[in-house]
Amino acid sequence: MADPGAGRYAPSPSGDLHLGNLRTALLAWAFARSTGRRFVVRIDDLDRVRPGAERRQLEDLAAIGVDWDGPVVRQSERLPLYEAAIDRLTAGGLTYECYCTRREIQKAATAPHGPMGAYPGTCRGLSASERTRLRAEGRPAALRLRATATEFEVNDDLHGRYRGPVDDVVLRRGDGVPAYNLAVVVDDAALGVDQVVRGDDLLPSTPRQAYLATLLGLPVPRYAHVPLVLNPEGRRLAKRDGAVTLTDRQELGNTPEEVVAALAASLGYTATSSSELLSHFDPLLLPREPWTLDVNGLLQHSGCP
Ligand SMILES: [Zn+2]
Repeated sequence: MADPGAGRYAPSPSGDLHLGNLRTALLAWAFARSTGRRFVVRIDDLDRVRPGAERRQLEDLAAIGVDWDGPVVRQSERLPLYEAAIDRLTAGGLTYECYCTRREIQKAATAPHGPMGAYPGTCRGLSASERTRLRAEGRPAALRLRATATEFEVNDDLHGRYRGPVDDVVLRRGDGVPAYNLAVVVDDAALGVDQVVRGDDLLPSTPRQAYLATLLGLPVPRYAHVPLVLNPEGRRLAKRDGAVTLTDRQELGNTPEEVVAALAASLGYTATSSSELLSHFDPLLLPREPWTLDVNGLLQHSGCP
């Protein structure tokens, strides 16, 4: 039988998941399950890791009825995969060392030419002797992609065709850790992930990732960037917005079923379990606007019979 493909949820273990994260996880799960795909949970732990966060995140996912196939995958255990991909790009002449400091890049990136925030290619043409001199100054070298395009187009199930800038992204940071954009691309392909559902704040980085996949000869997944959850001030929901984690809600007397019901209601469904949501789920009917969460309203609502 052909591989049905896979969807995924890939949290960073930097703290507890809030209702916006849980809603995106529920959506990614429903997209995958409603299309017969496997569902993978991957811990993107190359960066900020808070002890205990991974365990609590997995418990919260299970509590709202998000299940997954196979063992949980951790990026920190897959470094050789990323190095192999970097080696392939290097063998193809598609990388170079960058000695710029963060401050130098910020200064250069505000120059009037080139896309906003893009790396201006300062170190692209360094000679061997210049590299030796910079190394002798004790500067750590990051490794960058030598991009051969400036734009790339992706298809998104909710946003349609989306074209965005690609630049010389960092592949390996100055501290030797593989960069997020590279790790994500390598992992999605290695895990058979062909459907990426995530918050629409990540849409602008998608052309970079799809372009990188193409250079590596990897398939580009289907994308669906879903609207975020906002606080009443219109900003992206954050921990400081009050009782926004599952634990917070349970301390206020909410059951996981009530939290699922609130998340489902925000998506236009009446459901108190993930399986009930799944039985009615239609990606085409998803709201295209962000959900503004009134934390106090959620509490009152759940108190009603
Ligand atoms: Zn540089």
